Amino acid sequence: MSLITSLNKCPKGLLHDFHVERDGQKVLDLATVKLERCRACGERVRWNKVNGRIDNKKYLEAHRRDFLQREGPTAKLFYAIYQPEEFEENKWKWTIKL
Ligand SMILES: [Zn+2]
Repeated sequence: MSLITSLNKCPKGLLHDFHVERDGQKVLDLATVKLERCRACGERVRWNKVNGRIDNKKYLEAHRRDFLQREGPTAKLFYAIYQPEEFEENKWKWTIKL
């Protein structure tokens, strides 16, 4: 499984930085739709709610950036995005696939 997918790959960074877009919500029914926009590249994503809920699996995938950790399989992306100055010295933490 790749951590960077079509749902979260950002042309202006490694991963999209999606945040709720409030202006666009005025004309929409908030009970059925959630609009978000990437702070880096401006890409918009529209989440359709089913019974008031968003598809959790896809939402987590799109928001991978928000769930990166210093250890484990997402460590490489964590340092690349949040602490690039410490990227080199933390390389040993990367999960090695055998
Ligand atoms: Zn983006």
